[in-house]
Amino acid sequence: HVGITAMAKQFIAGRDVDEVVPVATKLWQRGFATTVDRLGEKTLTREQAQAYVRGVAGMLSALASEAPAWPSRPLLETDPWGVLPRVNLSIKPTAVSPHLTATAMTLGVQEGADALDPVMELASALHATVHLDTEYDEAKDATFALLRELGRRWPAVSLGCVVQAYRRDAEDDLRELIRWSAATLEVPLHVRLVKGAYWDHEMVVARANGWPAPVWDRKHDSDVAFEHCASVLLGHAGEVRPAIASHNLRSIAYAVCAARAAGLADHALEVQLLYGMAAPLHEAVREIGVRPRVYTPMGELVIGMAYLVRRLLENTANDSFVRQRFVEGKEIGELLDAGTDERGGTSDDGSEVPGATREGAVVAAFRNEPLAELRREPVRARLARAVEAVGTGLGVTLPVVIDGERVTTSMTLPSVDPARPDVVVAHSSVATTDLVNSAVDVALRAQPEWAARTMAERAAVMEAAADLYRAHKAELAALVAIEVGKPIAEADADVAEAVDFLRYYALCARGMEAAYPLVQVAGEHNTIRFRARGVGTVIAPWNFPLAIPTGMTAGALVAGNAVVFKPAEQSPAIGARMVSLLHEAGVPAGVLAYLPGIGEEIGPALVEHPSVSFVAFTGSRAVGLDINERAARLAAGQRTVKRVITEMGGKNALIVDSDADLDVAVPAVLRSAFGYAGQKCSAASRLIVVGDRADELLTKLAGAMDLLILGAPTDPATDVGPLIEPAAVARFEHYLDIGRRDGRVVFQVSHVPEPGWFVGPALVELPSAASALATDEVFAPLLAAFRVGDLDEAIAMANEVDYGLTAGIISRSPSHIAHAVARLEAGNVYVNRAITGAMVGRHPFGGMKLSGTGAKAGGADYLAQFVHPTVVCENTVRQGFTPDLA
Ligand code: NAD
Repeated sequence: HVGITAMAKQFIAGRDVDEVVPVATKLWQRGFATTVDRLGEKTLTREQAQAYVRGVAGMLSALASEAPAWPSRPLLETDPWGVLPRVNLSIKPTAVSPHLTATAMTLGVQEGADALDPVMELASALHATVHLDTEYDEAKDATFALLRELGRRWPAVSLGCVVQAYRRDAEDDLRELIRWSAATLEVPLHVRLVKGAYWDHEMVVARANGWPAPVWDRKHDSDVAFEHCASVLLGHAGEVRPAIASHNLRSIAYAVCAARAAGLADHALEVQLLYGMAAPLHEAVREIGVRPRVYTPMGELVIGMAYLVRRLLENTANDSFVRQRFVEGKEIGELLDAGTDERGGTSDDGSEVPGATREGAVVAAFRNEPLAELRREPVRARLARAVEAVGTGLGVTLPVVIDGERVTTSMTLPSVDPARPDVVVAHSSVATTDLVNSAVDVALRAQPEWAARTMAERAAVMEAAADLYRAHKAELAALVAIEVGKPIAEADADVAEAVDFLRYYALCARGMEAAYPLVQVAGEHNTIRFRARGVGTVIAPWNFPLAIPTGMTAGALVAGNAVVFKPAEQSPAIGARMVSLLHEAGVPAGVLAYLPGIGEEIGPALVEHPSVSFVAFTGSRAVGLDINERAARLAAGQRTVKRVITEMGGKNALIVDSDADLDVAVPAVLRSAFGYAGQKCSAASRLIVVGDRADELLTKLAGAMDLLILGAPTDPATDVGPLIEPAAVARFEHYLDIGRRDGRVVFQVSHVPEPGWFVGPALVELPSAASALATDEVFAPLLAAFRVGDLDEAIAMANEVDYGLTAGIISRSPSHIAHAVARLEAGNVYVNRAITGAMVGRHPFGGMKLSGTGAKAGGADYLAQFVHPTVVCENTVRQGFTPDLA
């Protein structure tokens, strides 16, 4: 603690204006200009954003009231293009508007510019420069958009922004900013060129999602780009006001020389340095006569922690100039050499190389399908085009498909867009028991030929299907968004997961060809192989309308089985598309039938058919248990004990420990409870808060809920879409009433769009678990919160339900985390993150207790459900001779 406090004192100039204004005054007297930055915690609520802006305005006024008394310092207050304000602020844009992201940019820019209007007015009246800092990638384009909006509204105010040279697109952005400044502003834009402080964050996000990194892999490349951008910047001095921010002597020296070589006066160039970093450099910059400006943070220690961590990373990185020169005392000549590159080798993803096991080979070969990079405009545009294209082809009638034959039934069932209930997505045929029988008969005839192929041959078909899915990715995502109201980013993730299942199970199947080694002794030869089970049925839910049925179907097919597939009533169009793509990829027509219909009607016939040897089901607990019971009864003519795989519901708990970082907890809770409007089996529906910070957490959570964007699932800005159907809305209302009766509604989102089956996400606090809301799966954006005294009480409460699907804990204490992880009764436990979003291969998924039979979808042992392992033991002894001993 003492160390941290000392570090804070070194890098943070003061806690408030009373402490910081004298620091700024003293720096000015010593010949340093400042830009004062009010450190902000993660802004999750409107109140926090308002408080940040108030703080900035207060800081501006306080500095402006002192600054006139500062002595004259021509270098600090003039440059070739005019007078420079003495007061200079740096603002963290995401603290001003939490919606300042690529996908919610329009709203974020509007909110941010409105919120900053009073600050800009003050800056105009009191003569100050307002600088927008650049943070991480997700906010970068929105930050520049906010800058342009501020410039449009306040063209005479001195504005500034930051370009990060570690970004691959830095030069493009820089040139665009120069063009914009020259064309729009009355005073040139200050451009601060930095390398960038979020390298680790950018790499982690890019690698986790399978995206190209927006930053250079190697430090050396950033240094080169920095020098290049510095030349561009200096070449346009006057259209913009150039500032170089670095602690690398070579970078600074390069800029100074380039400026002089370009014939610029010394006061045309500003060099910015961080408060408390590399003190000798500060003096040196001042001595050579260019303008030094000190980036001067103000704020509390805890709030400044993220800033301190960035400084720590910068000071301790092996390739940091500051560390090499000032800590390790490296020779200056060596450091000025442009050729150093110590980071290197980071372009592979650094994951462990697994052992030579069968499972290990799958892990080594498998990569998750990248999610759509919605933070890029062209990606959003591509999805928008797909949404439009899919929208023009709605309303078709979907036949039953058996042996490739299309049978349209006399009765049909509409599936509608939950966000626009008057739009019929498709009219699906309604299969009858007769069609069930003929589908099973066809499958029985076709299956042996399919089973006779090798695992590798069938795996190749699944891989071809994966390629087809990928080719149709945007279209499939659009269809998911439209048919089941899933926000487009999550709809895209649904498609990516389907691709993952196809490729992952193909890899697993290739590995199963050789089965596993057996103990061999002299005189016998033992082998094990896997034989397909035969004909099975796949019964799927609507909430992951492509991923889940694709996973169950691909698992069964690749192992050599035939499948009669029944989609959920709500998502027949996606189911039909899945079947047509699998057929197109080479799955024989006879081994995959498409049987849309009403679960209660054909479900039992499918499950009880004597020739159906397995059922793969994902859906509600009531239906799953009913299937389990029916499948257990022996039907006349039946010759196998049916294998039943049931993945059922959850009542998942997320524990927030007494020491949890609420900036981690709140986004995790928000995502877990309200992602896809709570319609995920993995969704958090119980929040268990340990200790006495419940009020603080619930208040922040309510504030963050208020910022959720409810709207059309096809709009990338949307956080929460509609519920699937009117019955789901009624169920939500019913349980909300129970919440009102048994507890209190802490907050409910009131901005609910119309029409469509939207509800306002709600947070209810219950005094105890003695409420149906504490035990029943609601499948809607309804979160029940509980307060408990200690962690054991929290774990006991988390486990006190019939379900055991997902669970999570947010805590800073390693011992608490270990304690909880060992005790939480759930198939998937998450630590310090959201409890939804399982990834194939990374987080094999499936529950325990009454949540499921425990087969892990997307895990190494999943295919074992679909095969009979058979063993052959051959006696190799002939007339007393065995080759084994020869
Ligand atoms: P659901 O049980 O209502 O329907 C699932 C499927 O079962 C549908 O295809 C339906 O037509 C069919 N069905 C209905 N009655 C049947 C019967 N008597 N016999 C055979 N089939 C029948 O579930 P849903 O509303 O589609 O999905 C939501 C539920 O699924 C939630 O409980 C959720 O938790 C669960 N779920 C679980 C997982 C998991 O991996 N554990 C994943 C997704 C969804």
